[in-house]
Amino acid sequence: MSVVVLLGAPGAGKGTQAPLLAERLGIPVVATGGIFRAAVRDGTALGMEARRYMDAGQLVPDEITVKLLLDRLARPDASSGVILDGFPRTGVQAAALDHALDERAERVAAAVLVDVPADELVRRMSGRWICRSAGHPYHETSSPPRSAGVCDLDGSELYQRQDDRPETIRVRLDQQLGALGEVIDYYRAAGVLVVVDGLQEIGLVAAGVETALAARGIRAPSPVENVAGRA
Ligand SMILES: [Zn+2]
Repeated sequence: MSVVVLLGAPGAGKGTQAPLLAERLGIPVVATGGIFRAAVRDGTALGMEARRYMDAGQLVPDEITVKLLLDRLARPDASSGVILDGFPRTGVQAAALDHALDERAERVAAAVLVDVPADELVRRMSGRWICRSAGHPYHETSSPPRSAGVCDLDGSELYQRQDDRPETIRVRLDQQLGALGEVIDYYRAAGVLVVVDGLQEIGLVAAGVETALAARGIRAPSPVENVAGRA
């Protein structure tokens, strides 16, 4: 089983890469949000426990999250492996995950970091502008208005909310990058960190991830190998 952890700062394109990687490797993406929702929906004991924290507006404790992850990993569709998205978020969580996997004689095979410099993350996340009259959204690079500072639809002025301003985003990002840095350090020390340049075009990032994983023996089973396996 190949447990692959996908790492990246907000705005690095991790969410775009997760399904691409899942398709290339033939294994599912497991995101903690989805696991919580499924466990609550299925009414499992762990799900009910997680729900108590969520209902109270609290973070679900790592111990419960790790147990839910292990249950998910035991499902048939995860028999060849999973891509973990959104967990671990801290060094403590990374260690808790390792400990739990170790008890099942499993391990994290690779931690893939989609690496984008902080300045570029700020640029990507701070490009959002909305119009005063109706809140129509624009983005400096991905969906700019036809004429700068003016809404295409109603001609009203465009402005940036406090949350979307570079200085606000910078502060929030620095906090998030601190926790991500712990996780990166953890996996680097474990010798499983794979860094891919996230400034490249989406397809090239995906190809880079695939190549780096293949070099570690993590790849989708080819038809030939399947035949050999049955023989
Ligand atoms: Zn508008």
